[in-house]
Amino acid sequence: MPNNIRVRFAPSPTGPLHIGGVRTALYNYLFAKKAGGKMILRIEDTDQTRFVPGAEQYIMESLAWCGIQFDEGIAEGGAYGPYRQSERQSNYAAYSDQLIQSGNAYYAFDTAEELDELRKLAEADKKTFIYNAETRKTLRNSLNMNDNEVKKHLEEGTPYVVRFMIPENTSISMNDLIRGSMTVKSETLDDKVLFKSDGMPTYHLANIVDDHLMEISHVIRGEEWLPSLPLHVLLYEAFGWEKPQFAHLPLLLKPDGNGKLSKRDGDRLGFPVFPLQWKDPKTGETSSGYRENGYYPEAMVNMLALLGWNPGSDQELFSMDELIEAFSLERVGKSGSKFDPEKTKWFNHQYLIRKTDEELAAEWLVWLKTFKNLDITANQATKIVSLVKERAQFVHELWDEAYFFIEAPESYDEKVVKKRWKADSPEQMETLATLIETVEDFTAGPIDEKIKSWITENELSMGGIMNALRLLLVGAAKGPHLGDIMEVIGREASLKRIRNGIKTLESNN
Ligand code: GLU
Repeated sequence: MPNNIRVRFAPSPTGPLHIGGVRTALYNYLFAKKAGGKMILRIEDTDQTRFVPGAEQYIMESLAWCGIQFDEGIAEGGAYGPYRQSERQSNYAAYSDQLIQSGNAYYAFDTAEELDELRKLAEADKKTFIYNAETRKTLRNSLNMNDNEVKKHLEEGTPYVVRFMIPENTSISMNDLIRGSMTVKSETLDDKVLFKSDGMPTYHLANIVDDHLMEISHVIRGEEWLPSLPLHVLLYEAFGWEKPQFAHLPLLLKPDGNGKLSKRDGDRLGFPVFPLQWKDPKTGETSSGYRENGYYPEAMVNMLALLGWNPGSDQELFSMDELIEAFSLERVGKSGSKFDPEKTKWFNHQYLIRKTDEELAAEWLVWLKTFKNLDITANQATKIVSLVKERAQFVHELWDEAYFFIEAPESYDEKVVKKRWKADSPEQMETLATLIETVEDFTAGPIDEKIKSWITENELSMGGIMNALRLLLVGAAKGPHLGDIMEVIGREASLKRIRNGIKTLESNN
């Protein structure tokens, strides 16, 4: 059976892609893959004034990093191309003309100054000027001119725009897969510009024409486009084209629930709102990205999937394949979802601890080389990460939990010294050192056992002795079991740390 489910993600390359945009792309992808349909990337770059160099590349790199794949697009090609609207520019004039011919659109020759003047007058009256059924009757447009006048303007090259003619006194009914049916009165709408005399279409015209030509079956996009839906529905009707189905996704809200999560919120509130780091080509300002901050794409995708959609069960961890399997638009809510930066870290931790020790060790080795210029063996790294990964949310946090496996203490936490280093500590620690010399199988179990039975036999305090020994080995009151630490660093290094520590602490006291 041929499958005609076709969805598109249609960003404008006006800057970096916000995570709200990533979520829109993700829901489109999940919907398409679940239905066995096609996912298309269309770049909506008709507004040259807002074009930002590098943004298109950024969008593609971000989505690839997230594991969102396209069947058709500017990189993939496809039978409905080109997929960049600037390369389809020659298409749009004919559609604008078609609407003028059919009486659904008209030429407007009003200058920017004239319209500004009308806006100011309305403002002075505490009103808003809109170009609509009422005002268009008195303005400089083809509705109020005879054919010759219009022809003359066009021949003389008077700048114009083509406006859609919103029908008078009608109700426009719309259907949305998330919000159900809605109706708006045509009086509330303005005659939006569709096309300009410089040959460029506006978003509305280009978007509808391309959705039609690309045979898009479902338009899944952010709630901010809901106000455009009546116009879009009217455009389909004016062209006599079959409408796609629409689904408008709820907003992503700031963590406190007060308003939409904006591009500026991220670094202001201390978490990234962009998938990848972005350097603004004009200002040189850098905004942080999930990738550079050490997040796994799987964690970010999992978190975003659950911001607006719920699986109807308690399951929280989903691979991309599981998301595809479970996703449905019926389970996307109507109300905005609060962004939760702490939960995002929790997701990252979940993905981190699910890596095999070998995988995580390989990532940590790269980190050690890059940020500390350190080389340790894969075996050492594997053992170390197995001991500390539960305590880390990110690969870069492993160092704080594990540096003492690699570096012997150079100083000793003063608070711990005060609390744990007693008059008889030097002698007790020296005795322990001689005991440690005699452990045959130098692994965690036998080491721990030897120490603990000595403590019990001598009726000493378990906490007191263990913490003093930890101070010598680690320099602080942290880290996993002492047996594990000694096994990793080895007998010789353990003894050296104990004896150096005794010496240093004695000479300081
Ligand atoms: N170019 C629009 C955007 O930047 C597309 C909106 C739509 O999906 O219709 O979001």
